[in-house]
Amino acid sequence: MRRWVSLLAVCFFGPSAAAAVEVAVDVGHYYAKPGVISVTGIPEFEYNKALALKVREQLEAAGVRVRMIGERGDYADLYERTRAARGVDLFVSIHHDSVQEQYLPIADKFSGFSLFVSRINPQVAKSVVCASAIGAQMRKAGFTRSLYHADPVLGESRPFADEANGVHYFDNLAVAKSATMPALLFEAGVLVNRTEEAMLARPETKAMMANAIAQGVLQCLS
Ligand SMILES: [Zn+2]
Repeated sequence: MRRWVSLLAVCFFGPSAAAAVEVAVDVGHYYAKPGVISVTGIPEFEYNKALALKVREQLEAAGVRVRMIGERGDYADLYERTRAARGVDLFVSIHHDSVQEQYLPIADKFSGFSLFVSRINPQVAKSVVCASAIGAQMRKAGFTRSLYHADPVLGESRPFADEANGVHYFDNLAVAKSATMPALLFEAGVLVNRTEEAMLARPETKAMMANAIAQGVLQCLS
């Protein structure tokens, strides 16, 4: 009976726009090479996984299908990740940031979120639209852009794709360039900054960030 009711609902109203959409949520790094080690000694992979699972929760609550990538911590090959995501509408890779090694002693001066897209990705325009939408939602939620990745000395001269919303071009970014669907990499904040790590560790921060990411995704895919 319930099956008939839901079938009827689909016939009368059509499937919702969100239900037709599938997003890959990629957990950056893996157990053997877990990325940045935070001030308090927590590997980036753990932070990425916690935030990515929250993002999944928020997207699924909005009716979006989610394909988790790398959450078991065993994905060593970056290209495996985009292969596993084949067929989705958007690829979102979740990371937490660091600074160049020579700036580690003054890492408390570096903070903020940033987003990256690759111009080698065949859907770069859509990738930028999605990254910008997420950046805008992050700012609306009270988070600040990092900006230092654009600096030739403090960062890596990554040009802005959308400075207002903290979006950079990073053409050789493996997950973004090897993806055939629109793809972006999200850096939540700087784990080697003491105050910032304390902020990123809070469950409220994770919930707010996941909500901003989900809102941005919904906006750009609608
Ligand atoms: Zn990372």
